[in-house]
Amino acid sequence: MMETINSSKQAIELEDKYGAHNYHPLPVVLSRGEGVHLWDVEGKRYYDFLSAYSAVNQGHCHPRIKNALIEQAGTLTLTSRAFYNDVLGPFEKYITAYFGFDKVLPMNTGAEGVETAIKIARKWGYEKKGIVEGQAKIVVAENNFHGRTSTIISFSSDANARKNFGPYMPGFVRIPYNDIDALKSALEDDTVVAFLVEPIQGEAGVYTPAEDYLKKVAEACKSKNVLFIADEIQTGIARTGSLLAVCGNCTCEGHCERQSTYIKPDILILGKAISGGFYPVSAVLTDNPIMDVIKPGTHGSTFGGNPLGAKIAMTALEVVRDEKLAQNARRLGKLFRDRMQILVDKYRILKLVRGKGLLNAVVVNDSPDSSTAWDMCLKLAENGLLAKPTHGNIIRFAPPLVMTEEQLHDCCDIIEKVVKQFDNR
Ligand SMILES: *Cc1c(COP(=O)(O)O)cnc(C)c1O
Repeated sequence: MMETINSSKQAIELEDKYGAHNYHPLPVVLSRGEGVHLWDVEGKRYYDFLSAYSAVNQGHCHPRIKNALIEQAGTLTLTSRAFYNDVLGPFEKYITAYFGFDKVLPMNTGAEGVETAIKIARKWGYEKKGIVEGQAKIVVAENNFHGRTSTIISFSSDANARKNFGPYMPGFVRIPYNDIDALKSALEDDTVVAFLVEPIQGEAGVYTPAEDYLKKVAEACKSKNVLFIADEIQTGIARTGSLLAVCGNCTCEGHCERQSTYIKPDILILGKAISGGFYPVSAVLTDNPIMDVIKPGTHGSTFGGNPLGAKIAMTALEVVRDEKLAQNARRLGKLFRDRMQILVDKYRILKLVRGKGLLNAVVVNDSPDSSTAWDMCLKLAENGLLAKPTHGNIIRFAPPLVMTEEQLHDCCDIIEKVVKQFDNR
């Protein structure tokens, strides 16, 4: 019989005893979510400031996405790609128009999206660029996070993610992030097929590059016939105050070619929030001359492009547009950083605040090995706000994008209260 959970303690004990210890969660057991709020087993309410690593930009249990899921779940969920289904085509038309690409390849998790982009880039390198088979290289950035498969961790610089998982996949070159000269010299090697990069490094601690970095990346890649692959799994879908981080300062929800700030990647990888937080969906978008290297039998996934996922993703993207979430993220993000800057100026325990839209981080002024950020997150939770420390002494703050201004101020008050306690110790 299935065990029912009556207390947080009981749930934590079960996970500890029967689950692999591949995460180190805050000791909070959640049982319900709605919009920007989560409730634990004891009924305590929290503001969510992680949004499942930006997978629930539309807010928890969004009613419109929920209804789309229920309707599709009672109609048709999975056919495999051995046959056509009547939702995939409309989804492919919708998402390619939405982001301005010729074609899409649907997958499930983010890491699968990254794997797909790597495979497309290599195949393109051999079949279109004329590189000798087996020689293709992909350039990546220091402190990247692109997922957890054995290929992807092969080019990670995080010792925990790599150690004792070798042998590692060859064919990757790591260069410093936000360093255009390092990219240019890496591109001198004519076996390079692609540069894979996050427009803002999320997991590394929300590192935002120089204003003109992506533009220069795109230009450098173009001049060397190298594919610019943008991993927008975390930064995309309105999180950073525009539909994509590569949209620059454009606030329209949806693709617009007219925006001069838009930097089109050759390959765009999406995941997380195109699920609306309901069901894993990822997507790789590119144009015909690149996507046409993919032929029957070269790549696939049993669940990729299934009607349930396709319907959910379409609705999740519709919600982003209809509720103007990019504009809200931009407006609230500025408010948030302004309020945090006041705290940084006032309290020695905070070093700085950085970010874009509602993807922000506060750097704690303590040694990277101390547990101050973790201890602060425990106190924030006690005060009704859930955030998680990321690499070093950094706290990432990324609430659902459906937050109101009043709620945001309420949250900043909670953060201020906690910061003050730590400053006085
Ligand atoms: C989360 C994330 C991934 C991996 O996505 P999963 O769904 O966890 O496999 C890849 N790239 C970036 C930038 C991410 O934030």
